[in-house]
Amino acid sequence: MRFSSLHTHSVFCDGTDHIETLCRTAWEKGLSAVGFSSHAPIGRKTGFKSDWHLPDGRLEAYLDEVRSARRRWEGKIPVYLGLEVDYMAGLMGPADRDYRDMGLDYLIGSVHYLIPPKGAPFTVDGSRGETLAGIREGFDGDGGAYMNAYWDAVLGMTAEGGFDILGHADIVKKNSRGDLFSESGETWLRRGGETARAAARAGVVVEVNTGGLNRKSMGETCPSGALLRLFREAGVPAVVTSDAHRAEDLDGNYQAARRVLLDSGYTETVFLEGKKDGPGTAVWKAERL
Ligand SMILES: [Zn+2]
Ligand SMILES: [Zn+2]
Repeated sequence: MRFSSLHTHSVFCDGTDHIETLCRTAWEKGLSAVGFSSHAPIGRKTGFKSDWHLPDGRLEAYLDEVRSARRRWEGKIPVYLGLEVDYMAGLMGPADRDYRDMGLDYLIGSVHYLIPPKGAPFTVDGSRGETLAGIREGFDGDGGAYMNAYWDAVLGMTAEGGFDILGHADIVKKNSRGDLFSESGETWLRRGGETARAAARAGVVVEVNTGGLNRKSMGETCPSGALLRLFREAGVPAVVTSDAHRAEDLDGNYQAARRVLLDSGYTETVFLEGKKDGPGTAVWKAERL
């Protein structure tokens, strides 16, 4: 079977390789397409400082660079233009109007930040120390409340729509070593199921993200096999992605992702074919696993 990667970071945000290198490597590896999904700028919209997002002033250069790579690689490998957009309720999200006029092929909607009831916003997938401090200050040390706030954010994003791929759906598990909340408990599975059904209603695709496996920061795909089963039951199509931050990871752990999909009852994955009209309207083609 063939694979693509639509979740790719370059030197424009927190990746280590240039767009051209990533295109060449994707082609050499025999991927059927490569799509770029730089972390969309957050500074102007949120006032937050970040060293891992595309700076606001570099957005146009990024869009131009991917468009010119698409022209250079035409006939060899399709190059798609996307963004990975953070959802932060009331501040920014994939449904923002400005993404509609950028000529994007697709958007990945991801929750990386939580805005707690008190204290400062913090990331769920940064260091464990940052997560622990955020839970202590923002959620009175309640890991369950933290986990629920994450799923609430994903559901908020899905309700607003405007994106095509649900990014690393259960990334909140990254800094939990079973001590912050249970990943096999009733609440986890109930919230995962709720999210899967919301994704189905929104018409989005769930990615099977191997980034944590590639970076050895997680022992499994995002989402896990247990949650993928719920997405399959809800009828949500799945796409395999590497969340690559360097060229060599562009197809990292793809056989593991295939195995997880099969074990979860999936018989097909999908491939991007184009779009009808801007973000949230991607056209997919299903192929047997
Ligand atoms: Zn992400
Ligand atoms: Zn990413």
